[in-house]
Amino acid sequence: MKAAPAYRGRFAPSPTGPLHFGSLVSALASFLDARAHRGTWLVRIEDVDGPRTVPGAAEDILDTLRKFGMRSDEQPIWQSQREHAYQRAFDRLLSAGFVFACGCTRREIADSLGHAHLRHATLAYPGTCRDGLHGKLPRAWRLRVPDGDAAVLTFEDRWQGVQTQNLATEVGDFVLKRADGEWAYQLAVVVDDAECGITHIVRGADLLDSTARQIYLQQCLAVPTPVYLHVPVVENEHGEKLSKQTGATALDTHRPLPALMQAAKHLGLEQPPTGSLETFFSDATAQWARRFGT
Ligand code: GLU
Repeated sequence: MKAAPAYRGRFAPSPTGPLHFGSLVSALASFLDARAHRGTWLVRIEDVDGPRTVPGAAEDILDTLRKFGMRSDEQPIWQSQREHAYQRAFDRLLSAGFVFACGCTRREIADSLGHAHLRHATLAYPGTCRDGLHGKLPRAWRLRVPDGDAAVLTFEDRWQGVQTQNLATEVGDFVLKRADGEWAYQLAVVVDDAECGITHIVRGADLLDSTARQIYLQQCLAVPTPVYLHVPVVENEHGEKLSKQTGATALDTHRPLPALMQAAKHLGLEQPPTGSLETFFSDATAQWARRFGT
């Protein structure tokens, strides 16, 4: 029997602002899981989305993580420097017939779905340009998802249990290269996780909905599927996911322990001793290992 590859995990913040409590929870969970497995923990800066990237935010996040006792075991990866890898993967998918050009605007997609789309946060793409552009100019590039039973993808999440998504009815052919020329998050994440040999992904449950797309993309690229664990997202008092837009404030880097304690509580851990960062991490890692295995 082949030995399982050594554990490699990652925390992948988007540098759209300083680290806040919601992203600290994801960082802590992925860090504890890597330590519990005596594995490698990497930080990847997800600045693939040029227009959303805030100058200086990535450095600020890396500095905050360090002050909170979490350092990447290898040089952090920056998605903005990995264009060639995304292009290579895209070209492979294109020549294998998985990708097609789409000339639809969001408005056209919404109109073609009638009012049904108003109840749904995301629109399942109706396949308009699958068989040609109908005289329109190409805008985005989409990955063709399977039809029928083959569209149903199931995976087991270590926290959330068995998850099922029908890619055809709930998502539709999804964008790999956007109309503004930027690489889509789904492609960048899958290419980077595969090239970095990531075996375990621990992140916020807001990304549960993207996981089936990522697994399907892994299958198209013939790369391994990591093991997933999605932690509950932190919400503000209105039940909205905590983010800069919903009022999250930057963390106090002079006092990391209180925020770490609160993050551990959010993850369902007993309060670790309040001595130092070292005692916090060794106790929290032992608790995590008891709960999620090593
Ligand atoms: N960059 C994404 C975010 O900050 C996380 C991506 C991931 O963990 O796969 O929401």
